Amino acid sequence: MKSNISFDKINWTTSSFLIASAIISLTAVPVYLWHFGLDWFQVTLFLFFFISTGLSITLGYHRLFAHLSFKATWPVKLYTLIFGAAAFQESALEWVSDHRNHHKHVDHDYDPYNINKGFFHAHVGWLLFRIQYELPTNNVDDLKNDPLVMWQHRWWLLIGTVFGYILPTFLGYLYGGGQAALGAFLIAGVGREFFVQHMTFLINSFCHYFGNRPYSSKCSARDSSFIALFTFGEGYHNFHHEFQQDYRNGIKYWHFDPTKWTIWFLGKIGLVSNMRRASREKILLAELGEMKNIIDNKIEICQVHLTDSTRQIMQQSLVYLQDISLKMSLRYKELHNVVEQRIELSRETLSEWRQEIKEAKVYLKTLPQTEMNLLTSA
Ligand SMILES: [Zn+2]
Ligand SMILES: [Zn+2]
Repeated sequence: MKSNISFDKINWTTSSFLIASAIISLTAVPVYLWHFGLDWFQVTLFLFFFISTGLSITLGYHRLFAHLSFKATWPVKLYTLIFGAAAFQESALEWVSDHRNHHKHVDHDYDPYNINKGFFHAHVGWLLFRIQYELPTNNVDDLKNDPLVMWQHRWWLLIGTVFGYILPTFLGYLYGGGQAALGAFLIAGVGREFFVQHMTFLINSFCHYFGNRPYSSKCSARDSSFIALFTFGEGYHNFHHEFQQDYRNGIKYWHFDPTKWTIWFLGKIGLVSNMRRASREKILLAELGEMKNIIDNKIEICQVHLTDSTRQIMQQSLVYLQDISLKMSLRYKELHNVVEQRIELSRETLSEWRQEIKEAKVYLKTLPQTEMNLLTSA
């Protein structure tokens, strides 16, 4: 029987590593927990390594090195490079190169985790199997001038092994001998590494598949407040793709974005500076443009596909939709001028204009169900 898997495309080193950590995390870790239970030491150790390595990826690899969304002093760079290595997601230089390719070529061939090749490919398949063509690597020249980044690039496997496996095991041994050392290796070492890896992978898979697109539907990236809960706030991925240099991913005060809170706190104590933010006017312009596209699409469906009899049923809604679309066009032009001339609007005006988008959204939701069925079935 002919196998569908082409073995010459398998990336053996990465695949063996990822599969081994998955097997250990899903078998040895639960067996250890069932047999020995969990104490405060193991929980604290897990949380320390989970937060340190997780934040080193989101705050360090992603928002600092890939997007330059703020400036950091050397202690912040060093910490995130050391614990980023312990997350075992390659060196910062390689990670950033892949990630910048992802943003530049999103949903196309040179996007390493192109969602159009399927959920599995975007999640982990791109690491298990070699991509047929070389991805551009000339997109990280700025980082090649940073001696700390280059030091980590050279030694990341050694640094990762020392800080990701040996250190927790050693701390476990100091605390309670051989059994605690084994627990620390399994829980704060391998299990934590597996958890942080798949947490990052979910951004590339889940957040390009499920969720809302309030800022732009030009690419597949979506906002998911659910994924934000265990990715240190990286779930607001539609906003992130539209405003990739913003140090925030969750921009509303109720958004769960611990990476943003940490950057803000580090700014307060002088360890980071120059945090970049998209203006409120630009963000509102994107939301307005997206809502207008949604309404115009619905109008087009009505006009092109509906028969005379169904159009009669839809007539009232259609007139109202056209009315909203017209108002939004005028508002869009007005806001576009505001952004062009870099005028700052008052909070009152911004919330008044945002209210208009909310009302349009509510109207779309309350369109009578039969009419919605006509629209979606058309
Ligand atoms: Zn990004
Ligand atoms: Zn993405």
